[in-house]
Amino acid sequence: MKHEIYIVGMGPGREEDMTQEALTVLDSCDVIVGYTVYLNLLGERFLGKTFLSTPMRQEVERCRMCYEEAKKGKRVALICSGDAGIYGMASLMYEMSAEYPSCELTVVPGITAASSGAAVLGAPLNHDFCVISLSDLLTPWEQIKARLRAAVLGDFAIALYNPSSRKRADYLQRACDILLDAGAKGTRACGYVENIGRDGETAHTCTLQELREIQVNMFTTVFIGNSQSVIMGDKLVTKRGYQIGAGARARAKERG
Ligand code: SAH
Repeated sequence: MKHEIYIVGMGPGREEDMTQEALTVLDSCDVIVGYTVYLNLLGERFLGKTFLSTPMRQEVERCRMCYEEAKKGKRVALICSGDAGIYGMASLMYEMSAEYPSCELTVVPGITAASSGAAVLGAPLNHDFCVISLSDLLTPWEQIKARLRAAVLGDFAIALYNPSSRKRADYLQRACDILLDAGAKGTRACGYVENIGRDGETAHTCTLQELREIQVNMFTTVFIGNSQSVIMGDKLVTKRGYQIGAGARARAKERG
């Protein structure tokens, strides 16, 4: 029999933001492995389970822990925030899987911060968009810069993950400067959401020029509109191109 390991995306934080499949899988597991912050978010529903953790930045050890527990005959879930396959642990688990042929991996999708944050802001990603992480821990800054420039060239709306940390306090400002240098206007509509689906959730809209002056923290997802995005009240909207303005004008003309 294969040893089963589930790699579970838990969404932004609240239980109601988890999928039914994620809840069912976690209910069925003996051991839940994850970063402490996410284990704490799981709340009382799973108190009967064995919770195992490793500190931040010890991702390889955390994954190994899953395999070792599974080999002992435990049914194991590895939880990640959002979606486990979007800047999560899913790929690392697959990279290590050759060492553990008796184990079988299943990925359970979750709502990623781009989706949950977009919902708070309205509809900032309602056309072609891309997702870029500003963390240069695992990606050279030159590559991040090239991707930011390419996003402007393709006129994509952008969701920025990992926009800042204590050591990278000026990264969002640097990213804004790259976007401006690549041709995005300072008036470009933007927004950011902090603590999506968690206590202290807050959302703001602003222009790209204003965004470069703002200090965000690591629990924030930043949204850069495309060249057609607009701020409507406190919402950020990227239109799909339905010509409702033109349609209304045409109907008015028909009516005379
Ligand atoms: N797997 C996660 C992303 C992990 S990378 C997902 O799919 O959502 C970590 C980054 O994700 C953070 O720096 C932040 O930019 C974003 N993020 C994840 N959860 C968030 C939340 N609840 N609120 C705001 N941003 C969040």
